[in-house]
Amino acid sequence: MPVVSSAVYPNVSYSVAAGSVYGQAFTSQSLPAVGQFKETNTFSSQSTSVPHLLQQHVPVGYNTTLSTISSAQSVQDNLCRNLTGSVAKVNNQINAGGIDSSQPVHPVSQSVLFTKPGAGTSVSSAVISSVRTPAPSLSSQPRSSPSVTQSPELALQEAIDSSSTTSSASPVLNNYDALEGGGYPEARSVTSSPVPAPSVPQTSKASKPFGYGYPTLQPGYQNAAPPTPVQPSNSGHHPGFQHYPQQYPGVNQLSSSLGGLSLQHSQQPESLRPVNLTQDRNILPVSSVPAPVPNLNSDLRKLNCSPDSFRCTLTNIPQTQALLNKAKLPLGLLLHPFRDLTQLPVITSSTIVRCRSCRTYINPFVSFIDQRRWKCNLCYRVNDVPEEFMYNPLTRSYGEPHKRPEVQNSTVEFIASSDYMLRPPQPAVYLFVLDVSHNAVEAGYLTIVCQSLLENLDKLPGDSRTRIGFITFDSTVQFYNLQEGLSQPQMLIVSDIDDIFLPTPDSLLVNLHESKELIKDLLNALPNMFTNTRETHSALGPALQAAFKLMSPTGGRISVFQTQLPSLGAGLLHSREDPNQRSSTKVVQHLGPATDFYKKLALDCSGQQTAVDLFLLSSQYSDLASLACMSKYSAGCIYYYPSFHRSHNPAQAEKLQKDLKRYLTRKIGFEAVMRIRCTKGLSIHTFHGNFFVRSTDLLSLANVNPDAGFAVQMSIEESLTDTSLVCFQTALLYTSSKGERRIRVHTLCLPVVSSLADVYAGADVQAVVCLLANMAVDRSVSSSLSDARDALVNAVVDSLASYMSTASNLQQSMLIAPNSLKLFPLYILALLKQKAFRTGTSTRLDDRVYAMCQMKSQPLVHLMKMIHPNLYRIDKLIDESTIHVNDRVVPQPPLQKLSAEKLTREGAFLMDCGSIFYIWIGKNCDNNFIKDVLGYPNYASVPQKMTQLPEVDALSSERTRSFISWLRDSRPLSPVLQVIKDENPAKTDFFQHLIEDRTEAAFSYYEFLLNIQQQICK
Ligand SMILES: [Zn+2]
Repeated sequence: MPVVSSAVYPNVSYSVAAGSVYGQAFTSQSLPAVGQFKETNTFSSQSTSVPHLLQQHVPVGYNTTLSTISSAQSVQDNLCRNLTGSVAKVNNQINAGGIDSSQPVHPVSQSVLFTKPGAGTSVSSAVISSVRTPAPSLSSQPRSSPSVTQSPELALQEAIDSSSTTSSASPVLNNYDALEGGGYPEARSVTSSPVPAPSVPQTSKASKPFGYGYPTLQPGYQNAAPPTPVQPSNSGHHPGFQHYPQQYPGVNQLSSSLGGLSLQHSQQPESLRPVNLTQDRNILPVSSVPAPVPNLNSDLRKLNCSPDSFRCTLTNIPQTQALLNKAKLPLGLLLHPFRDLTQLPVITSSTIVRCRSCRTYINPFVSFIDQRRWKCNLCYRVNDVPEEFMYNPLTRSYGEPHKRPEVQNSTVEFIASSDYMLRPPQPAVYLFVLDVSHNAVEAGYLTIVCQSLLENLDKLPGDSRTRIGFITFDSTVQFYNLQEGLSQPQMLIVSDIDDIFLPTPDSLLVNLHESKELIKDLLNALPNMFTNTRETHSALGPALQAAFKLMSPTGGRISVFQTQLPSLGAGLLHSREDPNQRSSTKVVQHLGPATDFYKKLALDCSGQQTAVDLFLLSSQYSDLASLACMSKYSAGCIYYYPSFHRSHNPAQAEKLQKDLKRYLTRKIGFEAVMRIRCTKGLSIHTFHGNFFVRSTDLLSLANVNPDAGFAVQMSIEESLTDTSLVCFQTALLYTSSKGERRIRVHTLCLPVVSSLADVYAGADVQAVVCLLANMAVDRSVSSSLSDARDALVNAVVDSLASYMSTASNLQQSMLIAPNSLKLFPLYILALLKQKAFRTGTSTRLDDRVYAMCQMKSQPLVHLMKMIHPNLYRIDKLIDESTIHVNDRVVPQPPLQKLSAEKLTREGAFLMDCGSIFYIWIGKNCDNNFIKDVLGYPNYASVPQKMTQLPEVDALSSERTRSFISWLRDSRPLSPVLQVIKDENPAKTDFFQHLIEDRTEAAFSYYEFLLNIQQQICK
């Protein structure tokens, strides 16, 4: 082991790394939606700001850890050269309180390291005296403006050149933004605004860089140089070329057949059927609410993207912003881009065919003008069909470009060429950062984590290069040398938490396969190593700083397990919760972070392609509002286990175990970016989810996982009168755990409508509600919870009022909704009673903040179950209708409304809340059910903590288990089951979901309807 005493160490504090910037870089990029709602207390009256930065990331130091120096070096050269424009901008944005990037390198004072007393029983301890190895990754990075400059125009030209050719000799651009090929930030310089001003519609309209004439240009459109004449959108073909008749199904032909679309089709009658809400008490369908099917012709419908991946709040897009404003419904997308798919066409091709102007990937909704040319469905540019595309690998035939898999599937994945790389694809790297304070040991989580890791070590996604490492912390930070060849793991303790450093940088992240035995030894030893600890402090911040340093050269995933408020070193937090305020009906404070430490750390991590996932297992307030920032801005995920205790709370322990199994083995994408493109005229103004917004339409995702959802708000910048169809495309560029660069592309096509009735007919009420939930979270933090609640109510009031005013024959005394929106008031009431937004009911601050985090990061299907769980009666399953799934008979009980009036003491009910199933047993429940399904002789003998159903040889047992496993199979996370009797403390958890009932603090559903009606009549 290298022992260097008083070595010179570049004082690179964690916050200065890799040219990341924060400070003033956050500019609002949300356009105030043009009066979508009322002026006051609606979401649109205040723009929701999104953290926004120009590209800033420079991968450095990679060549110090990989042997492929030559290629990495050339990449780095390019990086330095191309950095110019952005760094200049970046420097402009660093505020005084931010970073001093010109800090000199100076010697660091010696620090004394000592061995942890009593920790050396199974792991040998090493005493190191001032080991300071210069961190190679950090010392070589360019931090100030490079000396080589390049004009923005040149950079732009270069970008265009490189993106329009597939030649591997093309210059590599310095950021992932340019890499994915959409908007090159250099193009901003052309508009003579080096620092992007907060985008406001008026100003962006004033600066049209090119002659396209659409007001707010997406960066993608700005790249088109020189401007090409744009084809009129509905012209059938390019002049001078023979028009290929119906042979090529494309937008043009389909548009004309849809011309003057007025929805006199199947969609209208049912979805516009007026529903009298105050009279009709049975609005809940018998089975779960399906996504509305866009009103497209059958060919397009078949090709369209699955609603499981991609949903729009309005499946009929209003032609103009004015029409959208009239409808009083938000326009936006709900995305689940990386979800697990059973079928996914994967395309390996040296040429990935994309529009030369806007970089859209060829998709089923483009039109072929002839065999050699296709027209982009987003910007309408005519592009050449490359020679290679003429061959169809599926049919092995030539000359049928429209039959290629890219044109036949709206969800495809490309294996990307080196053009899509800034550096060789990174290996899968996993770092676990574990709290080992007294509190953590007492909770007993370590056993579960180590056991799960041991069980799943071989299933961690990766290849022969996969690396893994461990850091533990209490009042000091402990590292583990797992270098191959050691006889046992070595613990290295760093007590200088004010100036954390890596004792042996090269042997802390080790190859999983080479050091597997050492890793197993460590995992077996860890749970017992700290048993007798009296250390109550938590130096989480310093441990995270160390983790960041360790991960910087490669990027990867940091998994943090924390059990209390961090109490030492950087990022320490104080309790901010006043338990007496938990059921306040007035102001709810401290929904935002107490410090920017965790956000800054996350941005640094994101810049080094590292995501931080947080597992918070706490029995007391831990300030999740602050801690969550480490994951929110690094594209990580957040898990929270309130009142966690391994033996006292078996349901939580089981949940952790199940979550970990999924977490450790699910797919993972590294160093990812996601871009969302849409038909010109539409524009994106706010993103929701866990990520970092790199430019107006590009999200930076250091990691992407299949359980992450995203939402996007949009507006209509320019009327869509020239087209009858619009498309949205997301492209997710990532490195797979096997080291492949891949691009997953989804394309959604929707019709454009011109009447208000048609807009309502196409409303997707679940998507609307999920988008509103995201907006309400932002509003709660930026303004106040009561503002957010008012805005939610106003969303219903305004849209129903607007609908009723258009339907002339309605009586004013009734509250009427179109069938498509009949569940809107119910869902909004459910949101108001949800932990995130409720008032008057005792809610712990961390619980509330966690619910908000989930709203922002769950895909729609999970979010809906959280907002409005499904309730079934299950004591009479034998009589229910059934379906057959894989030789299994699965009963299909009807959905029950969430009201106590549905719960009879004679029955048993299952509530599906997404991540948890409650089975409520009535006091007078049939003894046969208790015996056969629960396995106990009578109600009284059913235990309080029951989390599993036994296998009993009886039809009702078989049917119940079959139904529950059918529900479980439909989701990646296996929910925990909790049996609830009347005396059970978990009863309140169950009853709080009966949202149709009146509570002390909130309306019943009926009262809520009357309240809405009253407000409409005002
Ligand atoms: Zn295009």
